[in-house]
Amino acid sequence: MERILPFTTEHEMFRRSFRSFLEKEIVPHYEEWEKNGIVDREAYLKMGENGFLCPWVEEEYGGTGADFLYSVIIGEEIARCNITSFFVYLHSDLVAPYIATYGSKEQKMRWLPGCVSGEKILAVAMTEPGAGSDLAAMRTRAVKDGDHYILNGAKTFISNGILADLVVVAAKTDPQAGARGVSLFVVERGTPGFERGKQIPKIGMHAQDTAELFFEDCRVPVDNLLGEEGHGFYYLMQKLQQERLVAAYVNQAVAEHCLEITLQYVQERQMFGKPLSKFQNTQFCLAELATEIQIGRSFVDALILQHMKQNDVVKEVSMAKYWICEMVNRVATRCLQLFGGYGYCSEYPISRIFTDSRVQTIYAGTSEVMKLIISKGLGL
Ligand SMILES: Cc1cc2nc3c(=O)[nH]c(=O)nc-3n(C[C@H](O)[C@H](O)[C@H](O)COP(=O)(O)OP(=O)(O)OC[C@H]3O[C@@H](n4cnc5c(N)ncnc54)[C@H](O)[C@@H]3O)c2cc1C
Repeated sequence: MERILPFTTEHEMFRRSFRSFLEKEIVPHYEEWEKNGIVDREAYLKMGENGFLCPWVEEEYGGTGADFLYSVIIGEEIARCNITSFFVYLHSDLVAPYIATYGSKEQKMRWLPGCVSGEKILAVAMTEPGAGSDLAAMRTRAVKDGDHYILNGAKTFISNGILADLVVVAAKTDPQAGARGVSLFVVERGTPGFERGKQIPKIGMHAQDTAELFFEDCRVPVDNLLGEEGHGFYYLMQKLQQERLVAAYVNQAVAEHCLEITLQYVQERQMFGKPLSKFQNTQFCLAELATEIQIGRSFVDALILQHMKQNDVVKEVSMAKYWICEMVNRVATRCLQLFGGYGYCSEYPISRIFTDSRVQTIYAGTSEVMKLIISKGLGL
């Protein structure tokens, strides 16, 4: 079915050039990065050189002012190559927007060109050991002291935690004020008192480094406060629509890729004198999954259009994040079953889709948290 998104010839050229870049420069190194548990910094520099990082950033800060569809293409092609733990959309579409939206002109001049070139890799640190879904329970403190804030606290599960040069850190500047007492700071690599803990071993998303971060009397210049003091929680909530939409369209593309490789496999695999695809169980299973995937596609494309019009679709994006991330797990599980024992072997790409999908219903807000937002939107 033809997609409703207004892709132009330029978008399609960009898609082809990004696809061949991934196949040549990224895919060949990916297994090694998975073994190392971290992507090579060089990959970010190459992405930057070719205009594939933060393409939406305005020209005066080093970008090309591209529309959101370029971000969509980047996410979809990464999914199509089954390299979703090359987590560049976190850098480009989840963290850089905080700087672009809430940063002063001076901060944008200071940081955005490096984000576009790949010299400055980004992370966002919200989660703490005692504050995941219940983010307002965070305990990291920032106390003003002259022209610095002194940060104390610990963050966990931070994607790009080891690679990051700039970390957008949420901390409480007024612990009595609840959510209204949270502020955002850009903490730079090398700031005294900012330490990285151990890299956290995971069951999937192996090339994405996930780490603990520690702040011990960490002196952050007041110039690194993003936006206004006390507005941090509001800023985080503002950006969650895009964060969850990115999760939805990337996972939608993963589900489509998963179906594609399974359709191919079942036609090749022979048993009882015929291809696996000729058994009614296989046909019904794939027919059901293809239907779910088509429903996801129609929904997510409609939301991308709404988001590009800057409409408030928080409730609907939460529905998409919840449903598509659950759906990709159903697709991965049932497709893997059709691969039999081969599906359980690492050398078959389906096994990576299966393990990488598992976290999708957990990070960027769990399915349960999405349901809370949806029910709130229903007035419950
Ligand atoms: C690989 C990975 C990368 C991540 N990257 C980042 C990152 O870059 N930056 C960052 O800040 N964080 C990151 N996170 C953290 C992630 O956002 C949190 O794990 C997530 O928000 C859930 O928090 P939690 O793990 O503390 O689980 P908890 O909040 O302890 O949740 C446990 C269970 O309780 C359920 N639950 C919670 N609230 C309710 C409720 N009201 N009603 C019913 N059930 C509920 C949850 O849905 C879940 O099933 C990452 C996590 C992982 C695993």
